[in-house]
Amino acid sequence: MTTYLNYIDGEWRPSRSGETFESRNPAHPSEVVGEFQASTGDDIDDAVQAARRAQREWRKVPAPKRGEIIERAALLLQERKSELAELITREMGKTLVDSGYDIQGAITSGRYMAGEGLRMFGETVPSGLPNRMAMTRREPVGVVGIITPWNLPVMMPAWKLFPALVCGNAVVVKPAEDTPLCAVRLFEILEEAGVPPGVANLVTGFGDAAGQPLVEHSDVEMISFTGSQKVGRTIAATAGQALKHVSLEMGGKNAVVVFDDADLDEAVDGVLWGGFSTAGQRCTASSRVVVDHKVADELVNSLQKRMGELVVGDALDENVNVGPIINSRQLDRVHSYTSIGIDEGAELLVGGEKLEEGLDGGYFYAPTLFDHANPQMRIAQEEIFGPTVVVLRVDGDEEAIEVANGTNYGLSAAVYSQNVGRALSAIAEFESGLAYLNAPTIGSEIHLPFGGVKSTGNGHRESGKSAIEQFTEIKTVFLDYSGTLQRAEID
Ligand code: NAP
Ligand code: MG
Repeated sequence: MTTYLNYIDGEWRPSRSGETFESRNPAHPSEVVGEFQASTGDDIDDAVQAARRAQREWRKVPAPKRGEIIERAALLLQERKSELAELITREMGKTLVDSGYDIQGAITSGRYMAGEGLRMFGETVPSGLPNRMAMTRREPVGVVGIITPWNLPVMMPAWKLFPALVCGNAVVVKPAEDTPLCAVRLFEILEEAGVPPGVANLVTGFGDAAGQPLVEHSDVEMISFTGSQKVGRTIAATAGQALKHVSLEMGGKNAVVVFDDADLDEAVDGVLWGGFSTAGQRCTASSRVVVDHKVADELVNSLQKRMGELVVGDALDENVNVGPIINSRQLDRVHSYTSIGIDEGAELLVGGEKLEEGLDGGYFYAPTLFDHANPQMRIAQEEIFGPTVVVLRVDGDEEAIEVANGTNYGLSAAVYSQNVGRALSAIAEFESGLAYLNAPTIGSEIHLPFGGVKSTGNGHRESGKSAIEQFTEIKTVFLDYSGTLQRAEID
């Protein structure tokens, strides 16, 4: 078994304590993917100090040059795409197709952010005084702590790292404990691409032991976090007290709304993909279907039939559509929602059980469908983060939108309709950061902003040019060439 190290100040190093932990393949839990450093506050401090020193020089490297390094990283990701996709499937469990999207997201982010090195626009505006120029320039925030989940194990660190780096920040990344090897491989690429020592640091370990000290560290100016609401709230409180920048992306309970004029075949395809790919372990998963009662029977019957065709298993097999759940704790959690749904009186139509036969002890769950749920039920309100889709039957467009908006999450929403006006009204009414017409709630693109409203986020957007806004401070600059003291605009 290989033991992997932290990457601090341009060196691969063991943790100070020497403690390690294992990452395992969720499809075959007896298979150990590798052994990793169980880091603590001491390792975080080493990494933050290295980042602080390196950032002083990195911020002076012209942004276009920083962009060239990121471009090289994107090319290396491209070269290793299939090998990395296979690793993601082995460490995290999703299908090779899903894993390919994960890498492609990282590649596209790298290409986009390399280009941002050539833009990073400020503003130039007329001054209110004669012979004076007024403008803004973008400057780095400083040392950024990045904390990521396991479901997008390469893309998620990459789409935070690349914009942070091109903007001249140094970073310390604490990846999810379930997918450390994906993060190690990404950092090998950053090293090869020529990111200078100390500019990007990787510290593996657990959330409380390694993540929390990163959030608390006084030399970290910003935290960029993607994960659960529960952890996000504590991070926001800690970082808020220290007046750090903090950007949070936290989950969803995303609805696919199906109006009575929808193309139902298209809607069923969408729900199958949005609800069950990555075994539903996506923040944007289509976990609720809000359907007009006039077409509900037809939609549900067809969905039920098509769910019977989904193949569950080790996703290294190309015939498999639904891979394992990430770990046994999460599997139990997903299963607990099946009992909750039954107790609440929803009708379990498909699945609802752990799958064991011939599956080598892997953490597999049957694609699950509940019908006749009502909007107040916990299965209709809480993020399950598994292959469970809940159908809510409604009467008319207005009720559909009210039910779709009726959770405290606000990440993604979708509507299926053939009528332009009805569809556009729904898009306008959705309380969400992402909205789709005739497509499921997943499938965002890297060059556009990504994030959610209400309790999904705290007002930021990742990706695209929004990421540049997050990872920079603005300096407002006045250049006076009048040759006299001009006191103020009212002079
Ligand atoms: P999580 O438990 O919140 O963990 C996310 C990260 O935070 C992990 O690296 C975790 O470390 C770390 N962490 C845990 N406790 C911490 C603490 N006290 N201080 C600092 N860091 C801490 O979430 P998850 O289970 O990995 O991921 C699933 C969640 O992420 C879902 O809710 C999903 O919706 C959300 N998600 C959101 C988006 C989005 O963009 N909106 C995208 C993907 C996923 P460990 O790995 O050791 O626990
Ligand atoms: Mg694992």
